[in-house]
Amino acid sequence: MRIGIDLGGTKIEGIALGGAGEVLLRRRVPAPRDSYRDTLAALVDLVNAIERETGARGTVGVGIPGAISPATGLVKNANSTWLIGEPLADDLPRLLERPVRFANDANCFALSEAVDGAAAGAEIVFGVIIGTGTGAGIVVNRRVLEGANAIAGEWGHNPLPAPRDGEWPGPSCYCGRTGCIETFLSGPALERDYAGERQRRALPPSETRQTAADVAAAACAGDAAASTVLERYEERLARALGSVINVVDPHVIVLGGGLSNIDRLYDSIPRLWAPYVFSDAVTTRLVRAAHGDSSGVRGAAWLWE
Ligand SMILES: [Zn+2]
Repeated sequence: MRIGIDLGGTKIEGIALGGAGEVLLRRRVPAPRDSYRDTLAALVDLVNAIERETGARGTVGVGIPGAISPATGLVKNANSTWLIGEPLADDLPRLLERPVRFANDANCFALSEAVDGAAAGAEIVFGVIIGTGTGAGIVVNRRVLEGANAIAGEWGHNPLPAPRDGEWPGPSCYCGRTGCIETFLSGPALERDYAGERQRRALPPSETRQTAADVAAAACAGDAAASTVLERYEERLARALGSVINVVDPHVIVLGGGLSNIDRLYDSIPRLWAPYVFSDAVTTRLVRAAHGDSSGVRGAAWLWE
């Protein structure tokens, strides 16, 4: 049995997979906030509960926001900031009395889709979660590419390639840089661009918050400001993914997260990325995640082959 745990900012999800990848059990508990000790206890309780209920002992893989630093062995880059600097990779194996594998949550997403999701059977997979951020991971032959610094796939904090007028130096990012891909392509970035576009067109502000999905729907319904924004978004995403193709040359790029539900991206982006790819033909496929929100926890389980 493989146990996968997805340690999120608001919830901790657990899954138990049988030998053929079938789901034996799912559990979800609220994530304790602002306390590493409580988080650790919740993880141990969740694994114990899964094993009690299934009557079996499993391997344990954990998807975390951020990564275990190869330099220090401590958690880094986590937006659940109370985990940063903590020895999770020492404490959890000791408490569970077995080795535990850890990976970044976007890496788990990519792994899940590469093993038995939308990119099943593909050799090189680039998996992107576009929602509040733009995390991504690389999987080669069903194994996560960790990298020397455990940041492989972190394209979101590269600058947007081939910047146009007004895109450079670009918005400030929480990471301390400016013009990061994430500041143009996250869901909140699309929402901001739409609000700005309405302002430029001297339109009144929207009465309610317009999410990325709302903007996409408005574009389909003929809203000119929404169309302009969505076209700009597609062009930027194509540039950003084009440069990924030049470096990683994935067979499949899988999109997950809220913005992956915008249907037209799968048609428009592969047309738009061609000029940015150094190749006569581009056979890379762009597909929507098959496992949706479950990809993170499934991928954590698959950290043990
Ligand atoms: Zn950044």
